[in-house]
Amino acid sequence: MTPRLMHWFLGVRVLVIGLFLGGAIVFQHKGSTGYLWVELRCLYLLVAAAYAQTLVSLLLVRMFGPARWLAQLQIGLDLLFATALIHITGGIESFFASFYILIILSGVLLLSRRDVLIVASAAAILYGGLINLQYYRFIPPVPGLALPLEISGVETLYKLFINISAFLLVGLLGGLLVSRLRLSEHDRQKITIDYEELERLNRAILANMTSGLIIVDRQLCIRSMNAAAEDMLCVVFEHAYHTQLSRYFPDVTLLQDGQFQVVSRGEGWLVDGMGNRRPIGFNTSVLTDPAQAVDGLLITFQDLTNLKEMEERLKRTDRLAAVGQLAAGLAHEIRNPLASISGSVQLLRENEALSPEDRHLMNIVVREADRLNGLLKEFLLFARPSPPHQIWFKASTLIGELADLCTADGRFAALEIQQNSPPGAMIYGDRNQLQQAVWNLLINAAEAMPEGGRLELAYRPLTRQLVVTDSGPGVSEALRQKIYDPFFTTKDHGTGLGLATVHSIVEAHGGTLEHQPGIDGGATFLISLPV
Ligand code: ADP
Repeated sequence: MTPRLMHWFLGVRVLVIGLFLGGAIVFQHKGSTGYLWVELRCLYLLVAAAYAQTLVSLLLVRMFGPARWLAQLQIGLDLLFATALIHITGGIESFFASFYILIILSGVLLLSRRDVLIVASAAAILYGGLINLQYYRFIPPVPGLALPLEISGVETLYKLFINISAFLLVGLLGGLLVSRLRLSEHDRQKITIDYEELERLNRAILANMTSGLIIVDRQLCIRSMNAAAEDMLCVVFEHAYHTQLSRYFPDVTLLQDGQFQVVSRGEGWLVDGMGNRRPIGFNTSVLTDPAQAVDGLLITFQDLTNLKEMEERLKRTDRLAAVGQLAAGLAHEIRNPLASISGSVQLLRENEALSPEDRHLMNIVVREADRLNGLLKEFLLFARPSPPHQIWFKASTLIGELADLCTADGRFAALEIQQNSPPGAMIYGDRNQLQQAVWNLLINAAEAMPEGGRLELAYRPLTRQLVVTDSGPGVSEALRQKIYDPFFTTKDHGTGLGLATVHSIVEAHGGTLEHQPGIDGGATFLISLPV
């Protein structure tokens, strides 16, 4: 039972009382007989009592809510009220006996099946009791009331039988109706709950989806988007609402000759609210209204930046592995004869009888053989790194030693060097190999800033990253994918093996090497070690 139902019931009750009793009063006043068979004052009193009681009921509903006991009390009082009314309006002759039926029917609305049967039985007992008591004159007639003085016993019995049967029948049918009503109410409630749950679920799914979701209308104007789409596009929905989709997806064509394009596993670029371009993967599906007319287009998309980076890294690793294997074999083959050549020439050089020109030429051979050997050593370090011998060591010691090396090296003379490492931070890895890797990054940074600049060497324990940042010219977009390739260099005397070696050392540690453009130009290289 809802408060609305209870209020509705009390309101109808006020109306019925007003209609029946008010009508009776008016009819009696204007009646052509001029014979008042009812003491009008009694009626006034009854109407007033009924209205007062309605007010009390309304207050009780406010205080206790639509409690079952309140409905039971209300119907009980109505039964007494109807009995009193029948008594003062002529007992067996009263045409207000039908009030009992109205009361039983209100019970159908408010009470349980058992209660309805009780109400019908109570109506029968009260009515039967009243008529019997009046018939045998056990209760005095209301003063001024014109009771039919002589009614035959058979007639009374017949009327009683008809009315009481009617009450009980209405009670029985009403009881059945109650069960049906409650059942359908229960079903309806169940369906409502399911819908609510469904809506909640849908909202939760949309909000928690990691894929962006956008709905556009037939003009490709944005009508809706979820939180992930807001994040990826760096906009709030209110700002993006009704803007053209092409504002965020300039290269993606979704409407051709007035027809939406259904795309599955498409790739493209998005330009977010800050103007950054990012690769995306997307799918589209057409939305239709209940009449199956095309209503809009639903686009789901994912940011592929990380995936593309990973793909690039894998490709790079593949490339390095292939080149490395081939070249490592070759380097090994060159190194042995080279050592023989250099050794032999050194022996020949010992000869006292050598002319200064020959000695000079031999010196060149030895020097170049040494240089070639150094290059091969570096190359083999990249191509066949020895498995890392990993131990725990202090990050600050490594950083400090590298900073000392920088200070001692002339290439760093014009640079302002900063080092940054939390005192207790520890690193797990091959100390020598990591030192070699960071040293390569430091040399690159120094060579990128021949005129001077800032160089920062840091360890970030939270992300386990060794970071080298410089304020040089940075790496141009076009070179970013190539710099890790062995032998790729932009320097006159570069070997192109520095970053390839760093990459291979980091790889052997299970970590990753990343480049990030600096905020004010410059380059940042990050070695991320695994957990
Ligand atoms: P090398 O130093 O012998 O050229 P690397 O593999 O170490 O070989 O570097 C490859 C290329 O990457 C360099 O030639 C340079 O163009 C670029 N590079 C590396 N580090 C930096 C840096 N810190 N700033 C600018 N460019 C860099």
